[in-house]
Amino acid sequence: MKVLRTAASLRNWLAATTGKIVLVPTMGALHRGHGALITRARKLAGKDGRVIVTIFVNPTQFGPKEDLSRYPRPFAADAEMCRTLGADAIFHPTPEVIYPTGSSTTVEEHTVARGLCGASRPGHFRGVCTVVLKLFNLCRPDLAVFGLKDYQQCQVIARMVRDLHIPVRLIFAPTVREPSGLALSSRNIYLSAEERTEATALRRGLLAARTAFGKGERSAHKLRAIVAKTIAAAPLARIDYIAAVDATSLEPVVKMKPGDTIALAVFFGTTRLIDNVQMPKGGMTR
Ligand code: AMP
Repeated sequence: MKVLRTAASLRNWLAATTGKIVLVPTMGALHRGHGALITRARKLAGKDGRVIVTIFVNPTQFGPKEDLSRYPRPFAADAEMCRTLGADAIFHPTPEVIYPTGSSTTVEEHTVARGLCGASRPGHFRGVCTVVLKLFNLCRPDLAVFGLKDYQQCQVIARMVRDLHIPVRLIFAPTVREPSGLALSSRNIYLSAEERTEATALRRGLLAARTAFGKGERSAHKLRAIVAKTIAAAPLARIDYIAAVDATSLEPVVKMKPGDTIALAVFFGTTRLIDNVQMPKGGMTR
């Protein structure tokens, strides 16, 4: 497995490869959730294709009061995980490689990115779209794998890829969870033992809403209230938002239909956790 740190070394490596390129963009501090994406990428690439994992803590997607400087960066352990799971290369650039001095071009999606996390974290999705397009341009992937835990991110990137005619196929992978139901996240390490226990309320609340939907409840207001009530029982939780939205446009809905999504963000202290659930379509649901 190669570790590539510059655009030139990446270009040279790509020039010497044949077969499909499958990209897994991450910010590192890899856990089993990222691992599932890498494993999926490995399968998609087959034996002739190549899997590139990018590890880059992207400064432009952090707000001024967010955790950029303390975000975990355990590179050696990350590299070991990538190697074990069969990645062919890690692209691990410095910020200067991604943002050359004087960089003045950004990419912004203006509709799907507006609500939910986009409303709470101004500029976040501009940072995400900008870095993801740069990574696409640098790595030239045939396919790119993203996790549905970051549901809005998936939909924003899908819209950007469509709007800008980017020649990449997007694969969205299900959320990997702890047995407690807590979605794995690099930010879970910030949680105290007590907060971690209480954070299981997010999944419980979302599942309670999904169950109520299964029994016939369609009111978005009532379904959101079911989630809110479960989370309110966790005294350390502070709800940022609970939204009931169309699965693709992320427009708020009043009456929920199969496939619509409830997405939420909840603070525990300064740690902000996100999760989501899709209303069952009759087949498999997240
Ligand atoms: P991050 O390193 O947090 O930027 O995440 C990199 C990729 O891993 C994104 O596509 C995330 O959606 C995905 N991811 C993060 N946590 C999980 C999880 N628990 N299950 C599946 N995918 C995840």
